[in-house]
Amino acid sequence: MKEVVIMPAKLLEGKSVALKIKENIKAEAETLKAKHGFGPKLVSVQAGDNAASEVYLKCQEKNAKELGLEYALKKLDANIKQDEFIKAIDSLNKDKTVHGIIVQMPLPQHIDAHLISRYIAPLKDIEAVHPENMGEIVFGTAKILPCTAAACMELLNSVPSLELYGKEVVIVGHSEIVGKPLALLLLNKFATVTICHIATSQRGTLPEFVKKAEILIIAVGKAGLIRGDWIKSGAIVIDVGINRVEGKIVGDVEFDKAAEKASYITPVPGGVGPLTVAILMRNAVEAFKQQIVKN
Ligand code: NAD
Repeated sequence: MKEVVIMPAKLLEGKSVALKIKENIKAEAETLKAKHGFGPKLVSVQAGDNAASEVYLKCQEKNAKELGLEYALKKLDANIKQDEFIKAIDSLNKDKTVHGIIVQMPLPQHIDAHLISRYIAPLKDIEAVHPENMGEIVFGTAKILPCTAAACMELLNSVPSLELYGKEVVIVGHSEIVGKPLALLLLNKFATVTICHIATSQRGTLPEFVKKAEILIIAVGKAGLIRGDWIKSGAIVIDVGINRVEGKIVGDVEFDKAAEKASYITPVPGGVGPLTVAILMRNAVEAFKQQIVKN
């Protein structure tokens, strides 16, 4: 009997891609500082304490420092009234020394996150949560992209000679920060995009869609949701999910089995994660250029 040789997938690691992006940011920040006498400054706004955000905040600060960007954390009281929150954002909008604003999610329950997003000055909105920046993605003219969606695009760009034109892409997860903007970015490249979500699972058709995917991107937050045997042979798999299982961080895909069928697959951790904050820093530099260099 002929032996079946299983070719394990190549790992799509975010670290090396992030490193290249960061080298460029560092060099660009230095040039901008030399030219203008000051460089990009970003401010994270956090209301109350949240264990999950702490890790992200530390990562923002560390990266900004490494790349020569100024960084500050603006802490607001967990019980802050919505109009006071808006005033805090407005003062950052007016502050000429601040070029990028991040509103740390999740917000306390009594604060309307959509409303707050509308108050961030679009030129300072380095997470692209303002409707104007989201609209630019529809037009294909966005200069500042939602970090996680852009991180997925960077990973795809790192696959040698990958042509997105006409490719069957399936995205699982339709959040405003990942699935929806990513679908638009891929459509702008003429990929054929299907978005699945909770209702797809409830209808029982998720495996059917996943099995067709030449490129599969999952952003749900449920360990083991995507079974390895659903993966199309040779597919590229990007797993955005972050789950803690028995003290370990895992994604949404059954990694070992999926790696036997995929051509490329992201590890979790080490795939999308390291790129997200690099894109945030890139957005801060872009925001600076839009505000300072163009004036
Ligand atoms: P979200 O909660 O806003 O959205 C979850 C999506 O999953 C929704 O579209 C929902 O309909 C869908 N969903 C839920 N259960 C499902 C099921 N059984 N079958 C199919 N679809 C289902 O999530 P989010 O903020 O986009 O984050 C998703 C995951 O990505 C989380 O694990 C999060 O931690 C991770 N994440 C990682 C990064 C990173 O940098 N690596 C960044 C952002 C989010």
